[in-house]
Amino acid sequence: MSSLRCIECGADFKLETRVYTCPSCAGLLDVVYRTSGFNGKDLRGIWDARRGSASSFDLSGVWRFRELLPPAADSEIVTMTEGNTQIWDAPRSAGYAGIDRLAFKHLGMNPTGSFKDLGMTTGITQARRLGATSVACASTGNTSASMAAYAARAGMKAFVFIPSGQISLGKLSQALDYGASVLQIEGDFDVAMQLVREIAAETPVYLLNSVNPFRLEGQKTIAFELLQQRGWRLPDRIIVPGGNLGNSSAIAKGFHELLEIGLITKMPKLTIIQAEGANPLYRMWNSGAETLTPLKGAFTMATAIKIGSPVSWPKAIRGLRWCDGEVDQVSEQEIADAKAVIGSDGIGCEPASAVTLAGLRNLVARGTIDPGEDIVAILTGHVLKDPDYTVNYHRGKLGYTDSKGDAVALTSRFANRLQSVPADRDEIIAALGIE
Ligand SMILES: *Cc1c(COP(=O)(O)O)cnc(C)c1O
Ligand SMILES: [Zn+2]
Repeated sequence: MSSLRCIECGADFKLETRVYTCPSCAGLLDVVYRTSGFNGKDLRGIWDARRGSASSFDLSGVWRFRELLPPAADSEIVTMTEGNTQIWDAPRSAGYAGIDRLAFKHLGMNPTGSFKDLGMTTGITQARRLGATSVACASTGNTSASMAAYAARAGMKAFVFIPSGQISLGKLSQALDYGASVLQIEGDFDVAMQLVREIAAETPVYLLNSVNPFRLEGQKTIAFELLQQRGWRLPDRIIVPGGNLGNSSAIAKGFHELLEIGLITKMPKLTIIQAEGANPLYRMWNSGAETLTPLKGAFTMATAIKIGSPVSWPKAIRGLRWCDGEVDQVSEQEIADAKAVIGSDGIGCEPASAVTLAGLRNLVARGTIDPGEDIVAILTGHVLKDPDYTVNYHRGKLGYTDSKGDAVALTSRFANRLQSVPADRDEIIAALGIE
């Protein structure tokens, strides 16, 4: 039987217990499975066969792997056939990073445009199993967009707490359109997160931030699907952005379970990249500290990873140890340029996703990553999530105000400028620059 287990003190709880962290020691909870009865080869066959099925449960890139998910009856599952996101070769990005080849798995191709959908299908399904009629989250944008959509599908009320004025319009527009109640909180993400946790503890509202272990169960299928799409060939390394650290934790757990059932024989390396201004895990990992010190006033224009007090850091550390991992950081300038390079491959992503390429480039330059490695970088969100950022970059107008109140302008090395041309045939042909 599966259960909830505290990663600190090992206490077990029934899956039906409505707890988000350990009631005795406040540690994070894992969903654990008795995997001893599983045979990796058999499961692989079952999972591969489901890709040709006509059922939406089988076709979902999450529920296809339901032997390693919390149990749910078909009538309880809330799915939008999420997952099934493409892996694309990215030759220009590989050249920019100084490596032979690079593949991006683009989780921005999910129903609401980010990987949050993978965790939301399992999170909302658990909410339904517990009889919840309303759900809530604090969000830098994508969690709220995803929760709003899945709650609407399930007929539940959705409450979204967003840091005032700090989320992109693309994401806000989704939450509004899908009918969520959107509350702007005067404060940053960490403040909104603290408040929503308190409110969920005191009211019947079910909390769907990634502290909720059922979210991470859905997100761990990134590891399963990625391998399945590659014919179960393990890459050398996975690179993932780090914000609240739920996704990196989930991916590591996914690979670790495949190792336990013998479907893989070793773990891939895991590289987590943070933005320089929102880098608490980077500081902890590279200083050898035992605990994470939250960072006050975290800042990055990549709003999806603008988090100073990441909830899942103990699980991320565990994942890094399982995977012989490392953590690095990148500047705003490096993020902006890397994003434009990913765009030039015809792929595109939101700013937070571009830390993967920026970080990879630095690690190759430093000799930490070998240019011949087989690498999959995880793109987390869709390019249309934050169009202001992209347009400002290409106009040469991207910048921010730093903590001292000074304006910082970025350089648009790869700007693709908009051209204005009179409505005149000859002038247009001249502007095309072709004979
Ligand atoms: C949520 C999110 C992240 C950060 O993921 P964590 O699990 O919080 O580390 C990165 N990129 C995008 C686009 C996101 O939506
Ligand atoms: Zn505990």
